[in-house]
Amino acid sequence: MKVIRAKVLGFCMGVRRAVDMAEGELRAGGGRVCTMGPLIHNPQVLEHLQRQGVESLDGDHLPESLSGVTVIIRAHGISPALEDELKRRGAGIVDATCPRVKASQMKARSLSAEGYKLFLAGEKKHGEVIGVAGYARDCIVVADPLEAERAAEELFRTNPAAKTGVCKTALIGQTTISAEEYSRIGEGIKKFFPGLNIINTICGATRDRQEALRELCAAVDAVIVAGGRSSANTRRLLSIACEQGKPAWLVEGSGEIPGQIASYNTVGLCAGASTPDETIDAIERALLALGQVE
Ligand code: SF4
Repeated sequence: MKVIRAKVLGFCMGVRRAVDMAEGELRAGGGRVCTMGPLIHNPQVLEHLQRQGVESLDGDHLPESLSGVTVIIRAHGISPALEDELKRRGAGIVDATCPRVKASQMKARSLSAEGYKLFLAGEKKHGEVIGVAGYARDCIVVADPLEAERAAEELFRTNPAAKTGVCKTALIGQTTISAEEYSRIGEGIKKFFPGLNIINTICGATRDRQEALRELCAAVDAVIVAGGRSSANTRRLLSIACEQGKPAWLVEGSGEIPGQIASYNTVGLCAGASTPDETIDAIERALLALGQVE
């Protein structure tokens, strides 16, 4: 069996930076270390951190005192209100928010301060969206083009300034939204607010992994997607491989590789943006070993 890796796979810049910062804190050995929610969506990385004593905090059930505790803010970021609450309880903050997410947060804050009505395109329950929304006053979160159009219509109907054309509107998006979906959401809002200021907040990391997988699919018989099931971008890679007509499996580790993969001559290997190098390497070794047995 031949194994071909996607040209771009695994950790993106923001995730690698967050993991490095967490490792750095542990090496410094300055006391109790926690993360605000799971640091990244990957079970092996989370288990590794847990074994070293890193706890994941739940924003809805924070301990009364966090005095002497270092809290690492994950790559997706958090709202300023939650950050203030952590500080109020005594936590020392290490901000591992991805610089691209930080840029979205700052943009949301400045647009809001300039009087824009802000639309935010993305998954309502996603940590990044909740965090960015917290930086703006009255931010309207929309998940898809239909919802965007309805929300714009509602704003147009209920806001007196909208009809006189003095209501400034802007759109920012979750960094991982697809460009096509983002553009359709913008079009939906523009039906009511043609002057909509669309800010490009899309991160290329997700798109690069998806394009590399499409290219890979043309050269292989089957695909293994390495990554956590809770990672949205990893699950999206699995759907893309299936859309390309390839038998495909999502595996979190080498122990989950299905036996029937050995019947394919050429297997493609790709990985989500939160999958560590060691996991990818271990899966590749296991695939090659399986191929030799056959
Ligand atoms: S996908 Fe992009 S925005 Fe999200 S953490 Fe990675 S580098 Fe940052």
